[in-house]
Amino acid sequence: MLLLTILCDFDDTVAAANVGQSIFKRFQPDVMLPGVVPWEEIRNRYSDREISLAKYQELAFLQLDQSKTIIENFVRESRPLRSGFKELVEFCNNNDIAIAITSHGLDFYITAALDSEDINIPIHSVETYFEKSEMTFKYPYADKSCFAWPGNCKCKMLEQYQGSGDTIIYAGDSTSDACPALRADYVFARDWLVTFCTDNAINYQKLGSFYDIIDYAKKTIGDYK
Ligand SMILES: [Zn+2]
Repeated sequence: MLLLTILCDFDDTVAAANVGQSIFKRFQPDVMLPGVVPWEEIRNRYSDREISLAKYQELAFLQLDQSKTIIENFVRESRPLRSGFKELVEFCNNNDIAIAITSHGLDFYITAALDSEDINIPIHSVETYFEKSEMTFKYPYADKSCFAWPGNCKCKMLEQYQGSGDTIIYAGDSTSDACPALRADYVFARDWLVTFCTDNAINYQKLGSFYDIIDYAKKTIGDYK
């Protein structure tokens, strides 16, 4: 039985940058075309709380005029992962620690990014389906009572692991990580989540690279076994 689980947000956490935004920047279609707007404008509508995170992501992806394969190749070639992540996954595999991605990003670009370093771990994210060049989105962890509605609630992802009694280490950076940060046993935080952890008296340390989590797990692993 696994007794320790490490859950990691993807964009700006496992990936050193926001891969979704890198895709929008790289493949922004001509704004002179009908129906096309600069992706930053869509993001601002989300920042102004006019639309949800889910809607922002859907609108920005739906206006891209690129095949899934071209986007996947772009992500794979950019090798976007933060340093130490591959080593952390190897450490987990060697020590019976579960590790998974809990993301509000899209499954196919997360898979491509992990593929670029031959990493194969469970991914909990937005699911995408491609049919006749139409892209559709599914939110298997949506929860009406969560502020992330109609997007995925990351606490739903966390509950799957916590239910079996595991101790949870959570790594993240932004508002969608607030829900699981409040419920995890220990948090590694960047950016916005640092302030959130301080304000809410959450046990955390800053995440520089993933070697920080390896060091922490090495020190505490005796407590879990
Ligand atoms: Zn939630």
